[in-house]
Amino acid sequence: MVRLRGHHLLCLLGYRGMGYSAEYVANMTQIHGLLRTEPDTVVAVVSGPDDLCAKFPSEKPCHCLDDDISVRDAAVLDKLGLRDGCRLTWREIEAREAERLHPQDVPALCHSCSWLSYGVCEDGVARIRGGRGLFPVDMA
Ligand code: SF4
Repeated sequence: MVRLRGHHLLCLLGYRGMGYSAEYVANMTQIHGLLRTEPDTVVAVVSGPDDLCAKFPSEKPCHCLDDDISVRDAAVLDKLGLRDGCRLTWREIEAREAERLHPQDVPALCHSCSWLSYGVCEDGVARIRGGRGLFPVDMA
């Protein structure tokens, strides 16, 4: 089982191997790869810091408990018709994302995110809507 907060359900779609540190990237690549290759993995939707936040570098300013991040979590969950405490497979989450998300939703959901300008998250939503699953990302 993987524990994920609301907005990370969206971040995983655009993930291409970028992140806050080598340890953070290694962990996210491992979780992303698990969900990509074993989509029946159960995801527990949690409130606050999750299995990705667990490897946020301690020497960088932590934003995992910031109010705007919680607002982003809630906005993504609302869009997907999910709530904290849900348990469902990654396959079920992808199906909801393909049905309910559009690339043009990303800027509104994620306006305060420093990764937004890369455009990879819109690409990830388009890919999911096209039934092509998560981008392949190699371990470094
Ligand atoms: S823009 Fe930021 S918060 Fe939104 S999905 Fe991409 S990485 Fe995640």
